[in-house]
Amino acid sequence: MFIPATRKEAAALGWRRLDVILVTGDSYIDAPHIGVALIGKTLMAAGFRVGIIPQPDVLSDKDILRFGEPELFWGVTAGCMDSMVANYTAGQKRRRSDDLTAGGKNTRRPDRACIAYTNLIRRHFKNTTPIVLGGIEASLRRISHYDLWSDSVRRSILFDAKADFLVYGMGEATVMDLAERLSRRQPVTGIRGLCFISTTPPQDYIGLPSHETVAKDKDAFAHMFRVFYDNCDPESARGLYQKQDTRYLVQNPPRPYPAPEDLDRIYELDYERRVHPLHQEAGEVRAMHTIAFSIASHRGCFGGCHFCAIAVHEGRRVVSRTEASILREAEKLTRHPDFKGIIPDLGGPTANMYGMSCKRAETRGVCREKACLVPAACKLLDIGHQRQIALLRKIREIPGIKKVFIGSGVRHDLVLQDKQYGMAYLKEIMTHHVSGQLKIAPEHSQDHVLRLMGKPDRVIRKGLLRPMRA
Ligand code: SF4
Repeated sequence: MFIPATRKEAAALGWRRLDVILVTGDSYIDAPHIGVALIGKTLMAAGFRVGIIPQPDVLSDKDILRFGEPELFWGVTAGCMDSMVANYTAGQKRRRSDDLTAGGKNTRRPDRACIAYTNLIRRHFKNTTPIVLGGIEASLRRISHYDLWSDSVRRSILFDAKADFLVYGMGEATVMDLAERLSRRQPVTGIRGLCFISTTPPQDYIGLPSHETVAKDKDAFAHMFRVFYDNCDPESARGLYQKQDTRYLVQNPPRPYPAPEDLDRIYELDYERRVHPLHQEAGEVRAMHTIAFSIASHRGCFGGCHFCAIAVHEGRRVVSRTEASILREAEKLTRHPDFKGIIPDLGGPTANMYGMSCKRAETRGVCREKACLVPAACKLLDIGHQRQIALLRKIREIPGIKKVFIGSGVRHDLVLQDKQYGMAYLKEIMTHHVSGQLKIAPEHSQDHVLRLMGKPDRVIRKGLLRPMRA
């Protein structure tokens, strides 16, 4: 079942009013790789009445008035990508195409979509229920941040959007908590994984340099980011606050990592794995080719690359789904009428981190003073590829599955350092699981660049290669 996207669909469920209305910058694809679908389905599974308004027209009321006002809150996301990344190239040229929009033309997603959609709601619903920002655009712009397109340090998007709350990171548990507390009329400002605006700084939270300071002082900005980065791990993080104008952005500590069974449950909810019929006339959504029948095996990345934001969104600890759940999902795909036997991707942020873990990180949090993979893989990190090999072998044995590809990037330094199973893994994926070209995580040939990227030196890797070739 789709999340209702029209009044008729909501009425068919007997819903005259909705608890939560989700507004998104993408066309509505009902698949577990789409955050807004996953959030909506999680809320529905808990009994909340949810509706979705994909890509509303921001110049008129024709879409936003569709369901009226929600009982609990509005959930606003720019979609699967930051709207400025989706709309412009790094060279600031307007992108013509959009893989997450039906028909493929980049005409439906406004710039700074979280701000545009919040303004749209406020224009048509005065004194409405809380507006909650979420998704990658909101999450990565939650404190003062550098914005390439305006070449400036912008303040928290919560202030610019004039929304009420911001859910950061992978938000399904935080959103559930919020919905439950709002439905019981309980206070919500203590919820982990939530940001809000306060007139006073909370006690016991760490104060970041103010927005005014970091906007003009690069050293203060670097210090702010360091403190922010060091407080992203649920085991050890403290709450943060930052003065933005006369008020404070408050970031509660992050949500604890989900257990593998929690991930299993949300990825195994009932997804249509189709584009909502609302978009049928507009044409194909190109992202469906990669999204519809891919399987997420894990979340998080302990790579710590300096150019990557995954650690501050998904966390530095990898949480892997159970093998049984992934196999069940794969088997279920074979019964989908549109499934042609191909799984385009089995992976996560870094494909070959499935099943890898650090016991210290699980109990005491990730190290602040050490990187997990630089200068070489930490001795406390289990980097064995054996779980992945076993999983891949079992999936391709399922009747009805012709191919399972690894579409996510592979950290090849991890493969090289796993002396026991690394080469077997490489052979396995090169023989059975590469479609076209094997994708590896960003690399470089020069050590000084690798160091800037936060990656191990080539020299170290050469040293690691020798015993494996012998
Ligand atoms: S002990 Fe090693 S693997 Fe674990 S968090 Fe610290 S640096 Fe990373």
